[in-house]
Amino acid sequence: MTQSTINPSNSGVIAILGAGCAGLSAALRLTQRGYAVVLLEQADHVGGLAGGVHLNGNTYEYGPHTFHTTDPEILNDILTLMGDELIPYRRTILIKFLGNYFSFPLAIRDVLHKLPPQTVLHAGLSLVRHFVSGLLRPPAVETSETILKRYYGNVLYEIFFKTYITSVWGISPAEFSPAFARERIPRMNVLDALEKIRLAIRNRIKQPVQTAGFVENVEGKLYTTRKGFSLITERMAEQVTQRGGRIELNATVTRLTRQAARVQRIEYTQAGETRQIECAGAINTLAINEMVLMTEPGFDASTLTAARALKFRALVFVGLLVRRPTVLPSSFMYFRQHSFNRISDLAQFGFHITPAGCTLLVAEISCDVTDRAWTDEPFAKTAVIEDLIAEKLLGADEVIETHVFRARQAYPIYTLNYEAHLQTLLQTIAQMTNLETAGRQGRFQYVNTHIAMKMGYQAADRLIAKLT
Ligand SMILES: Cc1cc2nc3c(=O)[nH]c(=O)nc-3n(C[C@H](O)[C@H](O)[C@H](O)COP(=O)(O)OP(=O)(O)OC[C@H]3O[C@@H](n4cnc5c(N)ncnc54)[C@H](O)[C@@H]3O)c2cc1C
Repeated sequence: MTQSTINPSNSGVIAILGAGCAGLSAALRLTQRGYAVVLLEQADHVGGLAGGVHLNGNTYEYGPHTFHTTDPEILNDILTLMGDELIPYRRTILIKFLGNYFSFPLAIRDVLHKLPPQTVLHAGLSLVRHFVSGLLRPPAVETSETILKRYYGNVLYEIFFKTYITSVWGISPAEFSPAFARERIPRMNVLDALEKIRLAIRNRIKQPVQTAGFVENVEGKLYTTRKGFSLITERMAEQVTQRGGRIELNATVTRLTRQAARVQRIEYTQAGETRQIECAGAINTLAINEMVLMTEPGFDASTLTAARALKFRALVFVGLLVRRPTVLPSSFMYFRQHSFNRISDLAQFGFHITPAGCTLLVAEISCDVTDRAWTDEPFAKTAVIEDLIAEKLLGADEVIETHVFRARQAYPIYTLNYEAHLQTLLQTIAQMTNLETAGRQGRFQYVNTHIAMKMGYQAADRLIAKLT
């Protein structure tokens, strides 16, 4: 570990924008090295996407989140921080396609039994056709759609991917950069498929099709706490404060003032007032494009164009307190035909729920901030409850409370050519002498918490290197 050559305590305060996993980790690294930090967080609680909403004795999560990693540093830090407050969690998932529930990971045997025989035949023929035509005639423009058709054929692509991806992200796979399909959705070509079918028929075993990227990919053991992942972020915040760090909640960053390549001041609103912090350096974990657009004087035209080109998809969460110990047959269920794409049953995560004998459901509606689901709470609540009743999962009289909460920037959208825009922004920030950027929004990357934490550590290390 490198130590700074200046006396950090005399070097001025480092402003950290946002107190999610990335911001909190950056603060932990900086305070450990003796730097004074102040975190500015617009919400009334820490944790960002991994934080929880505490209502009437219960914690509703954006997700909910589980902690998992194989990174030794992050794993060790979180195990040490949380001790026996961490509890193991076993993820179970059901996905509904064409009226049937499929377990995840998808099993070839499930596909063969549950899809109509005619569809299975068409899927097989289309898989072969797209595989061969992809080899002979590569498409003029590669998109996520061309890749998915080559991996799965047109029929399976239409059934399993097209509608689902379009409803979650708001754009069709044809408008997605090929990087999205390559990173998020594993390859299955005709040879893989034939081998799996052969094994499924011959061995009569559940042979998994590798679709790990179709839902959140996980590595390592899964953990949560009785109060959800939010307790991890709260413990991180306590540690930051114990080491002398300051956390300002309800503090919305509105402007970064720079002189040439140096950030001098951060402006934020809190309790109806505009406040400022003179800073020695800053780590951003807000959406990279928003932070760039907030900076004054503004950056060059190409940086501003790149900032305006990046887009995020929002999520509305409808949380329900339900009078039943558990409601869903699995911890997560995925749907294409309902108002929500995914729903989770928090009792199955080991959450402490009050009153006893009840569970919490959290439904996720992916949308744009101009959509009715975002702006109209009663509409979102009613849509979710009606869909759960139609799905025969719930009776209307079982719902005790309903709450709506939101994440404006839930998913970075990997549109065609987003890489070039992102690169422009990262290069502009790299040229700043006392500014770094980290995290899912801060680096516009579809990452999990442990990567956001790692990014926070790395941004702190890069900033220390810039300042010394
Ligand atoms: C539905 C869902 C489920 C997920 N499930 C898992 C999971 O099970 N396991 C896992 O490891 N990962 C999961 N993830 C990913 C995980 O949430 C992220 O990787 C992680 O929380 C990102 O942390 P971050 O600090 O980079 O960003 P964020 O958590 O977004 O933090 C950014 C912070 O900046 C604040 N902010 C924004 N604008 C301003 C402003 N102007 N002024 C002040 N503050 C501002 C925000 O309020 C927020 O607190 C999931 C993500 C989603 C969307």
